[in-house]
Amino acid sequence: MRDFTYRRAASLQEAHDLAAHPGAMLLAGGTTLLDLAKCGVTEPETVVDIGHLGGMDGIEANEEGATIGALARMSHVADHAGIRGYFPAVSESLWQAASAQLRNMATIGGNLMQRTRCPYFRDAATYPACNKREPGSGCAAIGGVTRNHAVLGTSDSCIATYPGDLAIALVALDATVHLGAREIAAEDFFLLPGDTPHREHPMETAEIITAVTIPGSAIARRSTYLKVRDRQSYEFAAASAAIGLELEPDGKTIRDLRVALGGVATRPWRARAVEEALKGQALTPETVREASLLAVEGAVARGDNHYKIELAPRVVARAILKLGESA
Ligand code: FAD
Ligand code: SF4
Repeated sequence: MRDFTYRRAASLQEAHDLAAHPGAMLLAGGTTLLDLAKCGVTEPETVVDIGHLGGMDGIEANEEGATIGALARMSHVADHAGIRGYFPAVSESLWQAASAQLRNMATIGGNLMQRTRCPYFRDAATYPACNKREPGSGCAAIGGVTRNHAVLGTSDSCIATYPGDLAIALVALDATVHLGAREIAAEDFFLLPGDTPHREHPMETAEIITAVTIPGSAIARRSTYLKVRDRQSYEFAAASAAIGLELEPDGKTIRDLRVALGGVATRPWRARAVEEALKGQALTPETVREASLLAVEGAVARGDNHYKIELAPRVVARAILKLGESA
């Protein structure tokens, strides 16, 4: 690991100023940044610590909406009564992420900025070809072992899966990411790889995530996050779904629905075709299972990841039916 200079920012403004220097990187909980520095994927010259900055770790959540500071810890947000009550998909996505120790250290802003777990990306010494790490160098995964790679949103340059859980719930619930004066819809905060997989977010140099907001709604109140993985703890998703559901007063007809997928795409994947197909329909296993197949419209399997095309619609259907049962 390369040596770096450590700077502890005294204010948000100082953090902006320090982060504007070439080679500077922000440090919040450090669980991704130091991990990647140790395996040589990131080589910061200066690490700008913002983890202690005041006023950026608040959590407010009620029927009207939620505001979560970028420095709020994952475990605090997961356990917040307002988040659990009015935004259960957000709480559940966080509880199922990483491990207890990591959740106690890691922040919401850092979580949104985490990098892919593509093993070729993380092993620079063995696999020099990685367009995400080194633009123009190729992609070692295409033609390699692809069991955990994406089937949606891929390009010939990169097929890496977006790994996080929280962002799937945020995209389903139409959240907004705040960068001080600027704000970006959560869905637009994650870029498709295209020809520039190294560019993952539409952020300018030295921009800092300050908060995330989520609008309150009936959909958000009846929402859930279902994560299917190789083991039930401390594992990334093979496929996951964040669902929000609103029923008509008859309790059987779908008035409105939100569907977002994780573990199968290069970014958090909103499945609007499923939402449209089910609005106004009876909530039955048959209608839900048939519409859920639309979640993987346009999916392309490469080698070992074909199972995700079958798995993802099942996860979506299971999550919708589970919410329906609880109605
Ligand atoms: P840091 O490591 O401090 O920063 C991460 C990146 O974000 C850095 O590039 C940093 O410069 C940037 N950054 C931090 N804060 C800001 C900000 N406010 N504005 C702009 N940029 C910022 N995540 C899941 O979702 N699901 C999982 O199942 C899961 N499993 C994991 C298992 C392991 C073993 C590990 C190590 C991580 C796992 N994670 C998982 C990822 C984990 O959630 C992230 O490491 C964590 O959320 C990052 O937060 P942090 O505060 O530690 O970020
Ligand atoms: Fe790199 Fe993306 Fe290819 Fe993985 S899939 S090796 S991250 S370019």
